[in-house]
Amino acid sequence: MEEIVLESYGKINLSLDVLYRRDDGYHELNTIMQEISLKDRVILRDRKNGIKIECNKAEVPLDRNNLVYRAWEKLSEEMEIDRGIHIILDKEIPVAAGLAGGSSNAAAVLKGLNILWDLNLSEEELRRIGVCLGADIPFCIMGGTAHARGIGEELTKLRCFSDKMVLLVDMGIPISTPYVYDNLDLDSRDRIDINEMVRYIEDDDLPNVARNMENMMEDTVIRRYPIVGNVKEYMLRGGALGSIMSGSGPTVFGLFDDEEKLHRCREGLKDRIKATYIARTI
Ligand code: ATP
Repeated sequence: MEEIVLESYGKINLSLDVLYRRDDGYHELNTIMQEISLKDRVILRDRKNGIKIECNKAEVPLDRNNLVYRAWEKLSEEMEIDRGIHIILDKEIPVAAGLAGGSSNAAAVLKGLNILWDLNLSEEELRRIGVCLGADIPFCIMGGTAHARGIGEELTKLRCFSDKMVLLVDMGIPISTPYVYDNLDLDSRDRIDINEMVRYIEDDDLPNVARNMENMMEDTVIRRYPIVGNVKEYMLRGGALGSIMSGSGPTVFGLFDDEEKLHRCREGLKDRIKATYIARTI
């Protein structure tokens, strides 16, 4: 039986601005996306027909609501292929946390099936198929560091801002992406200078990247869950060079240049929140 094992990495947004709501209902974004070493494992096993999904986390759906199901379905339709698949998800990326776990799994499935089924699709073709399933999927296919516009699909690859220490804090509070978008106040603040961020990234300038990180979705989440703001402040007091919420949250991350401070900060948070993760940018 043919089997492929893939690593499926999470992402953070080093800055995230939401510009406006478009006529099609989506939001126009201006953001920097960064792949991180926190990862799930995705195993694909050839199967005659139909799909079977297994996962180590009970809260992850095993039916069509799982993005990997849709990835298999979409690719089968596009390529007119009638083959089954058995997908095993070994998840470490927290679920519904703003770290694109589901999108990353779907990206891994598209890449894996491209190999398993000998499709020879280019990365660009996979990204085009991926965006029909979710806005973060094209970036998850590309990886590294990228400037994203549109709904996240207009990607410009940047010099990889790799090997920076990241502390991620999973608050364990439920907040849905649609709730955050529906409650955004798009005119409440000045636009974020993403071009300046791009320059700092191109210079591999960690202090300036960290200090200038902003996420315009934060205020909406902090209003409902003040703990998100408290964790940010705690990270900054504990020596993070910068700290913001990732994506639509609620995960908060900090960038560090001092391993000892990072570990001390993690220890201090341990009793108050659900889980912490240490990762590196890729
Ligand atoms: P988004 O911003 O798209 O909501 P996220 O990164 O915040 O994504 P995910 O871990 O992708 O969060 O999970 C969002 C929801 O998607 C979950 O509540 C879950 O029910 C569903 N989901 C579908 N497929 C997956 C998957 N493979 N892994 C995790 N969650 C998945």
